[in-house]
Amino acid sequence: MTDQTRFELPQDRIPRAWYNLNADMPVPMVPPLHPQTQEPVTPDFLGVLSPMALLGQDVSPDAEIEIPEPVRDIYKLWRPTPLFRAVRLERALDTPAHIYYKYEGVSPVGSHKPNTAVAQAFYLKDEGGKCFTTETGAGQWGSALAMACNFFDLGCEVYMVRVSYDQKPMRRHVMESFGATVFPSPSTNTNAGRSLLEQDPHHPGSLGTAISEGIEAAVMSNGEKKYSLGSFLPHVLLHQTVIGLEALEQMDMAGEYPDVVIGCAGGGSNFGGIAFPFLRENLRNGRQTRIIAAEPAACPTLTRGEVKWDFADVIGMAPIVRMHTLGHTFIPPGIHAGGLRYHGMAPQVSALVESGHIEAVAIDQVDTFDGGVQFARSEGILPAPESNHAVTAAINEALACKESGDEKVILFNLSGHGNFDMAAYGKHAAGELERYEYPAGDIAEAMTRLPDVTFAG
Ligand SMILES: *Cc1c(COP(=O)(O)O)cnc(C)c1O
Repeated sequence: MTDQTRFELPQDRIPRAWYNLNADMPVPMVPPLHPQTQEPVTPDFLGVLSPMALLGQDVSPDAEIEIPEPVRDIYKLWRPTPLFRAVRLERALDTPAHIYYKYEGVSPVGSHKPNTAVAQAFYLKDEGGKCFTTETGAGQWGSALAMACNFFDLGCEVYMVRVSYDQKPMRRHVMESFGATVFPSPSTNTNAGRSLLEQDPHHPGSLGTAISEGIEAAVMSNGEKKYSLGSFLPHVLLHQTVIGLEALEQMDMAGEYPDVVIGCAGGGSNFGGIAFPFLRENLRNGRQTRIIAAEPAACPTLTRGEVKWDFADVIGMAPIVRMHTLGHTFIPPGIHAGGLRYHGMAPQVSALVESGHIEAVAIDQVDTFDGGVQFARSEGILPAPESNHAVTAAINEALACKESGDEKVILFNLSGHGNFDMAAYGKHAAGELERYEYPAGDIAEAMTRLPDVTFAG
């Protein structure tokens, strides 16, 4: 133990390899299926969309996958990220628990997302690619990928949900500053966009429409463009393990080991990033850390969804995967944590929740903002609305320790800062933030629309 509260690693301790959970996966996984044939997807189907190196990583059995030097060089702009002990929060809560957080908001665009954006751009460039297409909601992912493509002299075409494009122009300006082209989705670029605009010229768009347009733009480009996804896929979670690998070393510097590790979960990438290296210690070395995914009560994929075969996207162009789902046609309520509004979950995370290796909790958005403001008043950082879910889950664990008198060590990932989300904090301060009932009817309806899959493995 030490009275130090900020734990920094030198640049040469940026991990040299990502940790690949495939090597230690304690439960069998099933392959993704082709959306039409329902046969396991083949590299020639996926290769149209994605660099081959990333497809190889998705199925690699190797525990360590070397991080290319050009990627580590760019990581040096913000990695290793700091780990803090939140002593002022501990005092404010009057808890015997020790609370630590890993802070990914120090990246240039303010979240964990560049950890994978830079890697994906490297592999596209390495394979002679020219341009990525992608979707973005409020713009966290789009700005990370725009920055990464700029570093590797690649084009970047972003389909941004139209309401965000119109109402939240800040991150659009970030993307454009990095040289990306940003279209409001639905757009007139694609068949999908044009037909949606025909139905409704003022269509507000959704992540679903933007994903469909990003995929179509890549498929129709004759190999000029590939499509990039910022969460959900095994290679994305793999790239994010730099978070947990650094945190393992930093906890060691602090002379402690976490009893509880927490991350917020939308598609599962920052959660997998902090959790998988600690899960490895549970699986290989008999550690018994509890690992908790925190999700919105309005989009409770892990706590209220069912494990089923379902489309990864909203209109059924993407592969069918086995995962916790609320139904691919379910449109989650408009909570401010846009990055957590997804109907499914990374299949690895899903399988581990199903097997009991990981726990999940759901928290209402008003409570998450209460937690975020309490955290800010002690630690000085206003978290991203998504991160507030992890913050609040950690506060709840610390308050449980106060009840029981346990001196537990709690570690959570602070996935990003909230500096572009002040309108949401303004609403919270004015008492205008909505509490959402569990949208039982909408989910039940969406669950009747799952694909009818006969694949038996
Ligand atoms: C995008 C985002 C998330 C959610 O995505 P995951 O893939 O589940 O990590 C969480 N926090 C922040 C700050 C984000 O930008």
